[in-house]
Amino acid sequence: MENNSVFAMALDQLNSAAKLLKLDANTLRVLSHPERSLTVAVPVVMDDGRIEVFEGHRVQHSSARGPCKGGIRFHQDVTLDEVKALAMWMTWKCAVVNIPYGGAKGGVCVDPTKMSKREVRHLTRRFTVAIMPIIGSHSDIPAPDVNTSSETMGYIMDTVSMIKGSTVLDIVTGKAIDLGGSLGRREATGRGVMFNTLELLKRLNKSPKECTVAVQGFGNVGSVSADLLQKEGCKIIAVSDVSGGYYNPDGLPIKDMINYCAQSNNHILEGFNASGVSKISNAELFELDVDVLVPAALEKQIHGKNADKIKAFAIVEGANGPTTPEAEKILTDKGKYVVPDILANSGGVVVSYFEWVQSIQSFFWTEDEVNDNLKRVIVNAFASVWDMAQKEKHDMRNAATMIAVLRVARAIEARGIWP
Ligand code: GLU
Repeated sequence: MENNSVFAMALDQLNSAAKLLKLDANTLRVLSHPERSLTVAVPVVMDDGRIEVFEGHRVQHSSARGPCKGGIRFHQDVTLDEVKALAMWMTWKCAVVNIPYGGAKGGVCVDPTKMSKREVRHLTRRFTVAIMPIIGSHSDIPAPDVNTSSETMGYIMDTVSMIKGSTVLDIVTGKAIDLGGSLGRREATGRGVMFNTLELLKRLNKSPKECTVAVQGFGNVGSVSADLLQKEGCKIIAVSDVSGGYYNPDGLPIKDMINYCAQSNNHILEGFNASGVSKISNAELFELDVDVLVPAALEKQIHGKNADKIKAFAIVEGANGPTTPEAEKILTDKGKYVVPDILANSGGVVVSYFEWVQSIQSFFWTEDEVNDNLKRVIVNAFASVWDMAQKEKHDMRNAATMIAVLRVARAIEARGIWP
C-alpha cells in the first residue's frame, strides 16, 4: 500500500492491530468510521478587501471513552482525509495513555504564514463559529497543532465566550497561562518525547550521554524535544525546519536556535548561523549516522524510498503519522525501534487533560505537579507498550495500537450500539 491517503494508512494500522487482537468484526466496523465529520467554508475579508474562502474540517472519530479531544491545524495541505486520520490517531493516543477522552481533529486548508495577524485572527474566529455546533467543553475540546498556538486557543475561547455570554475556560486546552492555561502545557509534547526516549534508552541499556540525535521539525514539538534531550545529555547534531537542515557533528546550540526562532520572521531558522554549523537538506538529515531520529514535522516523512537509508536505531515519532506502514516494515525488519506517535507525542494531550481538569475545577497546579504527573503517565504507558511488544513479539506500534483499540472496543461493547 503506499497510496496518498493518510486515512488509508491509519486504517491499515487499525486493521493490523485488530487482526492480532482477533477483534470482533462488528466492533472493527464501528472503529473504522469517524462518528462525525463537518466540513465548513471559512470566508475571511483579507487586508486588501478581497474575500477569500478557506475550507475547514472538524472530525470526531470516537466518543466511546469520553469527550472527543484533539488539535486544530492551519496548513495548506489539510484535507478531510488527513483530518480523519489524525482524529483516529487521537482516539488511540488518549486510550493508550488511559485518559478519559475520545479522539477528534480539526484543520483549515490555509497557509497562515502568508497572512497578517488580523487575517489569522478573523479566520480563527470564523472557523470557531462554524464548528461551534459540534464542539463543547464536555463533547469536543480543541487544542493547538501545526501552525496554531496558545494565541489561537485564546481567540477560540474568546469567540465561544462572547457568543455564550460568559467566560468558558474549558472549551479549549493549550491556552495562555493568563487565560487559565496549564503550566507545562507548552513544553508537554516535547517533554513526553524526551521521557519516551529515555525510557527506550533505559530498556536498551544505553545512556543519553552516548547518544546522538537528529530532529526533523523545529516547531513547538521539535524544538522542545531537542532542548530537553540535550539537557539530559544527548548530543543534538542536526535539526531542520522549512528553511532546511542545520548540522554540527559536535552538537548544536539549541537554546540559541530557539531564541533565534522566537525573533525571526515566521519563527523559522532561516539565516541561522553559528560556528561549526553547516546547512544540510531534510533528506540528508534522515540519513545521518545518529542513534535517535525524532521526526517532529508532518505525516509520511519516512516512506518506502528513504526508510532503508535511516541509520538511527530508534525513531521516536514527535509528529503524527511520520512513518508509512511500508517504511515501518523496513525499519522493524532491520531491528530498529519505532516509538509510535500515539505514545511518543502523547505528552501534549496528557497535559491538555490536566489543563481541562484544572479549568473545570478553577484550581491550578504547580509546574512540578504537572510534570511529575506527566512523567508518571508516560512511564506507565511506555512500560505497558514495551512489555506487550516484548512478550508477544509485536512491534511497538502494533502493541500500542492493540492496547488502545482494546480499551476503546471494551467501552463500545459496554455501552452497546444505540438505540
Ligand atoms: N495536537 C496535539 C496532538 O496531536 C495535542 C492535542 C490536544 O492536546 O488535544 O496530540
